Amino acid sequence: KLSKRLEAVASFVPTGAVLADIGSDHAYLPCYLVHKNVISRAVAGEVVKGPYESAVRQVRTEGLTGNITVRLADGLAAVQPEDKVDTVTIAGMGGPLIVSILEKHPQALENVTRLVLQPNIHAKVIREWALQNGWALLNEEILEEDGKVYEILVLQRGEELLTEAEVLLGKQLLAAKSDVFIEKWSKEIANWQRVLQSIEKAEATPEVEEKRAELHHLIELVKEALV
Ligand code: SAM
Repeated sequence: KLSKRLEAVASFVPTGAVLADIGSDHAYLPCYLVHKNVISRAVAGEVVKGPYESAVRQVRTEGLTGNITVRLADGLAAVQPEDKVDTVTIAGMGGPLIVSILEKHPQALENVTRLVLQPNIHAKVIREWALQNGWALLNEEILEEDGKVYEILVLQRGEELLTEAEVLLGKQLLAAKSDVFIEKWSKEIANWQRVLQSIEKAEATPEVEEKRAELHHLIELVKEALV
């Protein structure tokens, strides 16, 4: 059975998509989608030998070698033009690593119309990358599993303008203000306030002043957005 997190990622993969799952580990996500008849073809990319071998084994065990090609490659280098991949999933990594994967082999995205990205932290950098690279947020989801909060960002081609708060928090997540969302950002505010208190005791160097101003700004920004 798939985790609630990966099930949510899977729910955003369109029926009939040709998928590349990058950082596939056991290839659980593509295997699940083929079994569910959502897709019939996928590439599973892994850069580390151990997880790559687990993916190869899993695909073989599930009898899906005709559907899923597992490749040992760095990020989108796993995708070849003849694959005709139109959907990419990247899940379970930090936002900055996801962005670096998207930036490293831009030609692999030429025929891609949808990205389903699940950053464990720093979703903000993905929204910034999207705005700067002609992608718009089609959908966003936030969920909690085993005490951890995950965000899922679904991107399609398009132009979009977002406010500073929407880039940080997610426009749709902010509009929906779910319990998980409120809890996540209330905790962030509390953390920032703790840091602020501790640096208030520090000597007022220009760096400390800058950090203080930045924290103040963030706290006010998110507090205002949450009301
Ligand atoms: N996507 C799965 C999930 O969400 O459960 C696995 C997540 S696991 C925490 C992250 C995986 O990404 C690891 O197996 C790691 O080896 C792989 N990875 C990290 N950087 C990568 C890159 N540049 N290209 C391909 N895979 C990468």
